[in-house]
Amino acid sequence: MRIAFIGLGNMGGGMAANLTGAGHEVRAFDLSADALAKAGEQGAMPCATIAEAVDGANAVVSMLPNGSIMRSVYLNEVVGHAPVSAILIDCSTIDVETARDVAAQAVAAGYDMVDAPVSGGIAAAAGGTLTFMVGGTMAGFEGARPVLENMGKAVIHAGEAGAGQAAKICNNMLLGIQMLGTCEAFRLAERLGLDPQKFYDIASVSSGQCWSMTSYCPVPGVGPDSPADRDYQGGFATALMLKDLSLAVAAADAVESRTDMAHLARDLFARHDADGAGARDFSSIIQTF
Ligand code: NAD
Repeated sequence: MRIAFIGLGNMGGGMAANLTGAGHEVRAFDLSADALAKAGEQGAMPCATIAEAVDGANAVVSMLPNGSIMRSVYLNEVVGHAPVSAILIDCSTIDVETARDVAAQAVAAGYDMVDAPVSGGIAAAAGGTLTFMVGGTMAGFEGARPVLENMGKAVIHAGEAGAGQAAKICNNMLLGIQMLGTCEAFRLAERLGLDPQKFYDIASVSSGQCWSMTSYCPVPGVGPDSPADRDYQGGFATALMLKDLSLAVAAADAVESRTDMAHLARDLFARHDADGAGARDFSSIIQTF
């Protein structure tokens, strides 16, 4: 297939490389000359404009920082430039409302468009092991699936347009809250004189067990290898957790869904980010307890 790829940053760079690796012709565009050059080294064809990248494409994939950039890219530079037969696939994490609105405008112009945000970080993007949560019509999902399968281990239809984004922010909202609870529990256990390893041995086979404990333990030296064992370098940045929690509380407020825990989690990660931890793994928030 001929695939246009827009946004070749930390995530998009690895994803595009998996598409070229699978034998697709990838035409790449990014505002960053460095990102574009790197994509070129990995087999993509660098393009000077989005219009050039999407010309004659069978699919358009994007991995952009936020909803306002995604809206402007699609409505100004993709719709009306890509062939209407091209499936439009936005993999960025953005707000549900923008995802729905842009998809509706693309559909009105004759395209099929899906939101397909991902679970998994930079390593999963490079390794082709992302999970895609896809929102759109069944026809759109079936059109996007063969493209997404080159970049992930799971491609799941979540529902209509915007449902992929809804699944993504609800999942990450739960993750943020769960990590804070895990941190609190480990710290309290310590204060009560319990060895962290002993607490792990017990809680990991008891009802407090959760992913933040048994797959991503925030305490160094406890549980399987995690960013805590590398001074919280790499992993999932605090700034990105803050972004996702902010999207979750905004979505919840818009539909008047009570989310006390998410609001508190957003505030705690905002404080951690403001204290200079934005680039560190989000589990480093245990150091604030
Ligand atoms: P990044 O900042 O590394 O990459 C974004 C890229 O988009 C940059 O190269 C930037 O130059 C490019 N860009 C910005 N505006 C553009 C425009 N108008 N036209 C073309 N290119 C443009 O960010 P990232 O870490 O790759 O994240 C991308 C998306 O993936 C975000 O929505 C993020 O929330 C989501 N995400 C990231 C992770 C992660 O671990 N990094 C995990 C899951 C989801």
